[in-house]
Amino acid sequence: MSIELTGGCQCGAIRYRARVASNAAYYCHCRMCQRAFGNVFATFFNVPASNVAWERGEPKLFRSSKLAHRGFCAECGTPLSFQYDGAERIDLSVGSLDDPRVMRPAFHLCVESRLDAFHTPDGLPEHAIEESADYQRSLAAAGGVPPAATSGRGAC
Ligand SMILES: [Zn+2]
Ligand SMILES: [Zn+2]
Repeated sequence: MSIELTGGCQCGAIRYRARVASNAAYYCHCRMCQRAFGNVFATFFNVPASNVAWERGEPKLFRSSKLAHRGFCAECGTPLSFQYDGAERIDLSVGSLDDPRVMRPAFHLCVESRLDAFHTPDGLPEHAIEESADYQRSLAAAGGVPPAATSGRGAC
């Protein structure tokens, strides 16, 4: 299975094309995603970085911790991407897709910082930040000391 997706930011300055192997997406409840999206969680799909082509413009990168950076449109602020330093895979925001309805949530990540008042149990698998292989790989490469979190333990 291979799905060809297109997306971009709200103002149109940035456009991308991505090829994914499935329509699985996930919720991230970490504090950094809450701040980056100005929302109570973020939704992403994970894709090999080599499967993503920035066809118009390029995201501006913000280093959200010593482990990772986030891409957004410098013109309109739309959150577009998340990537651990040196990772071969990148996350793209579900809401930036031209047709986000193709995606399906598969699991919850960083449930240690989830705002339960805004969450309706849905039976999907739940994972803490420490269960993320990409997080562990990036953490080890950065010396093993987790980044200081403003709250919760999973700042990324
Ligand atoms: Zn924009
Ligand atoms: Zn997150």
